[in-house]
Amino acid sequence: MKDMEKERLMIKTAAEKTAQRIVQPRAAKIDAVGEFPWDLVEAFGKQGFLSILLPESYGGTDGNLTSFCIVIEEIAKVCGSSSLIILAQGMGTLPLLLEGNPSQKDLYFTEISEKNSLTAFALNEMEGESEEFPTHTRAEKHGKDFLINGRKCFITHGSLAKFYSVFAVTQPGHGGEAISAFMVEDGTPGLVFGKREEKIGMRGAVMTDLIFENCRVPHENLLGKEGEGWKIAIDTLNRSKPAIGALAVGIAQGALDFAVHYANERIQFGKPISSFQAIQFMIADMATQVEAARALVFKAASQMDAKIEDAEKLPTISKVFASEVAMKVTTDAVQILGGYGYMRDYPVERMMRDAKVTQIYEGVNQTDRWTVTQHLLRNF
Ligand SMILES: Cc1cc2nc3c(=O)[nH]c(=O)nc-3n(C[C@H](O)[C@H](O)[C@H](O)COP(=O)(O)OP(=O)(O)OC[C@H]3O[C@@H](n4cnc5c(N)ncnc54)[C@H](O)[C@@H]3O)c2cc1C
Repeated sequence: MKDMEKERLMIKTAAEKTAQRIVQPRAAKIDAVGEFPWDLVEAFGKQGFLSILLPESYGGTDGNLTSFCIVIEEIAKVCGSSSLIILAQGMGTLPLLLEGNPSQKDLYFTEISEKNSLTAFALNEMEGESEEFPTHTRAEKHGKDFLINGRKCFITHGSLAKFYSVFAVTQPGHGGEAISAFMVEDGTPGLVFGKREEKIGMRGAVMTDLIFENCRVPHENLLGKEGEGWKIAIDTLNRSKPAIGALAVGIAQGALDFAVHYANERIQFGKPISSFQAIQFMIADMATQVEAARALVFKAASQMDAKIEDAEKLPTISKVFASEVAMKVTTDAVQILGGYGYMRDYPVERMMRDAKVTQIYEGVNQTDRWTVTQHLLRNF
């Protein structure tokens, strides 16, 4: 077996064990109480899952997306909220990995790998995109610093993270080049957090708004050059989309596995319901969709790892397809469990609630479809 395959198998085995032994027993309570699992953050840190995209010298895989997706899928099979911790960590880290300078990388990567500090990616805003800018938050130059004003909305790890990748307009009137990216540290005066959002799913994950009121950020915290922020955001999203796909595949696989187990146990009309063709066909369709989604997700991840040019289309396609599959498969799993599927005593209703957001975040599937079409039309 080649070294790369061996390494991935080791990562998969470690993630599977962590999922089964540590995460699965906590999943129902995390959801019921809406509890952020700090103990799992520590466990993930010990396994290196929080620094998986970091350079090898900091315990990571040098940005290897396939390994990242493997871990996310394994954890998502048992708990969407816990898997989202690893995903959000990767998203917060990617802008730094892509465009951080050596001293920024050393400072933040050391903190992340040694202290398991959380990171977050802060792009989304409450107001819609203006005609001119994809973001309204401003960062104005004041001497050697920038003063950030504005509000970022629904940010995963908001109020928990030590470092935030924040996108703000620095050069109004420059279209896509108007935006710059910054690392903003927790505790910086002028950064405050909104309330913790109440959600229907991913209930263990924490989302808040970030509110910037004359938040002074030194020039050293600028990622890349001024005006490169939008490119950094898009490059990050192209890498995180297969990861959302992996999260969706994990949730769907978890629901499918549970539904198969239940169908073998549940007796109706004197037989296990798995002996009815109607149930068998549902299971076959669910398994087909999960396999197809997984194949797309890992193809997209491997294309990104291979640095194939113009690779934007497949990450988006994989995210859209896998998230639609997750919603369909988890809904069907609830159906297979009948009335019990609707009850909180079984995990499939949680999986259905967790699956929903994969169709929404990091670009709703409608706008993602638009991205795919634009890509295709450009090539004619
Ligand atoms: C649980 C959760 C966690 C999140 N975490 C983060 C995070 O960590 N960082 C971050 O930056 N953001 C985060 N977000 C924000 C998320 O990325 C946005 O909510 C998402 O991109 C959708 O934007 P919106 O809510 O403004 O919806 P809108 O864009 O207002 O969409 C509303 C509706 O309009 C439709 N629509 C919008 N535009 C078009 C179009 N052009 N064509 C057709 N239909 C369209 C959409 O499909 C949707 O049905 C999170 C959101 C959630 C729910």
